[in-house]
Amino acid sequence: MWPPSSCKRKDRKQKMTVQQTDARPTAEQLIAMSASLEGKTPQEILQWAAREYQPGLALACSFGGPSGMVLLDMMMGIDRKVEVFYLDTDFLFPETYRLRDVCAKAYGIQPAGYMSLLTPFQQEQKHGKALWERDPDLCCQIRKVEPNARALERKKAWISGLRRDQSATRKDIQIVEWDDKFNLLKINPLAAWTESQVWTYILDHSVPYNELHDHNYPSIGCTNCTKPVLPGDDARSGRWQGQDKVECGLHVPDGQTAGYNRLHEDGEGA
Ligand code: SF4
Repeated sequence: MWPPSSCKRKDRKQKMTVQQTDARPTAEQLIAMSASLEGKTPQEILQWAAREYQPGLALACSFGGPSGMVLLDMMMGIDRKVEVFYLDTDFLFPETYRLRDVCAKAYGIQPAGYMSLLTPFQQEQKHGKALWERDPDLCCQIRKVEPNARALERKKAWISGLRRDQSATRKDIQIVEWDDKFNLLKINPLAAWTESQVWTYILDHSVPYNELHDHNYPSIGCTNCTKPVLPGDDARSGRWQGQDKVECGLHVPDGQTAGYNRLHEDGEGA
């Protein structure tokens, strides 16, 4: 049944507010935290995160990428009360919803789906048809970035599947960072992992993954903006085809999405 009761679009007048509870650590504290976790396994990092920030910890899992599935599986072995959330853009693939339901049953959880404050119809009324073709950055802001901010309200820290091997811009990411965009701590337990390690974990542990990966969709987002790729093509080449866009804006500082889209490739996550 869709949308499930866990989807959150209750108050469409609600504005994006970025206000978390904990004070920002100093740069020195962040460096020390990351240094102490460098070389630890992702499971050890997740255990630390749950110990330090739960309640108040959120795990982002798009059900569209393998890294999120690894983190979900690991976290479910540590603390099933951590909030698992995803961004329901209203344009996700049926396979993505299916995977969400499979995981909900397998792990006994109810992932929280955060939806845009505008339905697709309202978006069309306000911004015209097929906004994703004319202004995909605005569409992502409306359907991803703003809901992500709501998902992180009153949280202390969030866990993302960013990895250093995903792009040049991510090669220096730290295990623990301050997220200026959403104003809370961001933890990247897979920072030091490779794509190969992610898939090895998935296969070794029989972790469910999006079935579209088996049909030439290495990177999965919205139906409007995701196409299959040819063997040997860049994994992200199926996203926003024909557009000068590779980044949805979740992991980019405010006001810099366009610059990133011109210069850099994005990794999994949205
Ligand atoms: S990926 Fe495409 S359809 Fe989805 S929010 Fe971004 S621009 Fe809109």
